[in-house]
Amino acid sequence: MYADCIVPLPLEGVFTYSVPTHLSQKVQVGCRVNVPFGAKKQYAALVTRLHEEKPAYQTKDILAVLEEEVMLLPNQLKLWQWVAEYYMCTLGEVYKAAIPSGLKEKDGVVRYRPRTIDCVRITEEYFDPFKLNAVLSTMKVAPKQQLLMLKYIELTGLGAALTLKNPQILKEITKEELLKAAGCSSTILKAVCDRGLLEEYEVLVDRIPTGQIPAELIIQPLSQAQQVARDAISGAWQQKEVCLLHGVTSSGKTEIYIHLIAEALKEGKQVLYMLPEIVLTSQLTDRLRKVFGDRLGVYHSRYTDAERVEVYRKQVSDQPYDIIVGVRSSVLLPFRNLGLVIIDEEHENSFKQTEPAPRYHARNVALVMAKLAGAKTLLGTATPSLETYYNAIQGKYAYVSLTTRYGNVAMPEIEVVDIAEEKRKKLMSGPFSPLLLREIREALERKEQVILFQNRRGFAPVVECQVCGWTPQCPHCDVALTHHKRNNQLVCHYCSYSTPVPHRCPQCDGDNLSSKGYGTERIEDVLKNIFPEARVARMDLDTTRSRSAYESLIKGFQKGETDILIGTQMVTKGLDFRKVTVVGILNASTMLNQPDFRSYERAFQMMTQVAGRAGRSVSSEENRVGKVVLQVHDASQSTVQQVVRADYKAMFTEQMEERRMFNYPPLCRLVYVYMKHRDENVLEHMAEELAKILRMVFGHRVLGPDMPAVARVQTMYIRKVCLKIELEANMAEVRKRLRELQAYLLAKQEYKSAVMYYDVE
Ligand code: ADP
Ligand code: ZN
Ligand code: ZN
Repeated sequence: MYADCIVPLPLEGVFTYSVPTHLSQKVQVGCRVNVPFGAKKQYAALVTRLHEEKPAYQTKDILAVLEEEVMLLPNQLKLWQWVAEYYMCTLGEVYKAAIPSGLKEKDGVVRYRPRTIDCVRITEEYFDPFKLNAVLSTMKVAPKQQLLMLKYIELTGLGAALTLKNPQILKEITKEELLKAAGCSSTILKAVCDRGLLEEYEVLVDRIPTGQIPAELIIQPLSQAQQVARDAISGAWQQKEVCLLHGVTSSGKTEIYIHLIAEALKEGKQVLYMLPEIVLTSQLTDRLRKVFGDRLGVYHSRYTDAERVEVYRKQVSDQPYDIIVGVRSSVLLPFRNLGLVIIDEEHENSFKQTEPAPRYHARNVALVMAKLAGAKTLLGTATPSLETYYNAIQGKYAYVSLTTRYGNVAMPEIEVVDIAEEKRKKLMSGPFSPLLLREIREALERKEQVILFQNRRGFAPVVECQVCGWTPQCPHCDVALTHHKRNNQLVCHYCSYSTPVPHRCPQCDGDNLSSKGYGTERIEDVLKNIFPEARVARMDLDTTRSRSAYESLIKGFQKGETDILIGTQMVTKGLDFRKVTVVGILNASTMLNQPDFRSYERAFQMMTQVAGRAGRSVSSEENRVGKVVLQVHDASQSTVQQVVRADYKAMFTEQMEERRMFNYPPLCRLVYVYMKHRDENVLEHMAEELAKILRMVFGHRVLGPDMPAVARVQTMYIRKVCLKIELEANMAEVRKRLRELQAYLLAKQEYKSAVMYYDVE
């Protein structure tokens, strides 16, 4: 018998191994096996097929079966195959992205350690009333130890257990609970353990009832508008598999999801609830846990590998989580009985993975997954992607809208400030217009909170010599270095290269280097000068490297320990703070001027989302409406006007006209072919040659070769060729042709060390 296996390597296809007789009973499709690879290596591979077709080459034996359970379910394999095919990558790359590292260890010794918690129990020796009493009486000289023991006896019901001579009825107690109850430090506990009275042991977290799990579900009743939307969604699913819920910010989409999830659970189905990385906070998981308790599993890239292994294992067990809340990669997890997929903030481009392969779009993969499982899908957002809205008006998806905020709270009022004009009049205080400063001041006086949004981290995006105009560039990438003032470094945001800020200009030796522009760090500085009494916090990549830092920033703001929160796009979405009445967008022009056909759509989404953080609850007596100050270089810009009027349709119509005129998605499909090489000349040559042969096959559909916005990263030069393929074209054929051309090019001696890959929209 032979087994085809996926190996966690970026190689094409599956690899065939022979199944030794002693393993033939154990090897089954979907299980994990240890296989030899090359001269010395071993990998944990996944079996995709068992057969009797002897390959032409000498096969090696499978070495071991790593566990009894099947780790790859049939539909999951189908989905992975679809991903590899559609996004033009290998199955091995999908495997690598889908499975936590702990499950692909090459030596087969799985260094997976389930999450445990320390508990304390009485030793067997002292589970004896006479011995126990004897030792307790000698403990009078150590009153703290005695107290700890007495607390232990009280909390675990040791007395009754001793009387009944049944240690089974002892209540499990965690080390933390005991120490807290006794008011002791762990040194005291250690002393008691050293005496041989108590012992510590570990318990899998799964087994511990968290205590917060409610006896029954706490579901809030829906408002009338929410109920109407909810019913419309259920109705729509009778006809269509996918429904778009277009609900304004703070309309209470989450609450509708909760009702739909509860419904699916009642039918015995599993639910996948996907959201973008930055929205998955404990704010949301706490809310969901209150309703669904331990039926909920969370799959987050900020979690440790061990935690992800645990979730993965649970999903293939016979007691999987009923609900998985997760980010992008959760779509590759195993589900046995999926009934509903919810994709919140479906417009978010962080659902698209850009590096490394598989360069997949999790929303689109989720749609395929739901189809394979026969599940329904809900796409939720206040600002649909053009693709999704287009599909909705074409009738491919059902469409349900929710136009009022929960509790009939008013939509925020948006005021535009032309900062070019204010600058001319010399009215700007650094990055702040007089209007924004006044709004901040008044909010502080009213003891309300403010969010300021600037999509640039660091102190200043550009440092410039005032004498000769020199600006520091990354030596490895084609980008300017960003000034970070806290550690006085110049940092590359592409490869993390960093170097101290020079004292003098390396080009002309001038001593007048100045910082231009404003990053979040600098805004924080300026703000602290203007409002020294305000409590200011900053949320960007630099301040949220750890999971706890991120959560504590959010919690601090929620509890009102912070007055003003400055941040990058991290502050734009999903956060629900009740006391924020003022939102400032410091410079919308940086978003509008990106060299990308989606930049206007994205800018609209980002501005609308950040504006949506304002005034989410009616503030007491005055019924104050949330206020958004939108600073921009050109106030007449149509996208800005569309944001102010909250006119999604106008944005959609205008952008669709552009897409039609220049032939862009959703009216065609884009396939980018990327090439990388250390030698720019070789690369140029290769790119020209590729474009030429592509034109012979695809004609006018080929654009380029071009330099991407950043044309060198980590010393590798990059070129791209773009293909615009008609929606109705046969993509399988396109992919086949591309692969043939790739094989032809890479076979040439001169392009041997080139890298070629695809990014499929
Ligand atoms: P969205 O996701 O549409 O922006 P949320 O789901 O965050 O909106 O809801 C906005 C606020 O309104 C939240 O604080 C939420 O708790 C509250 N809310 C929404 N619906 C209800 C409801 N049916 N009952 C009680 N509170 C609700
Ligand atoms: Zn100079
Ligand atoms: Zn760099």
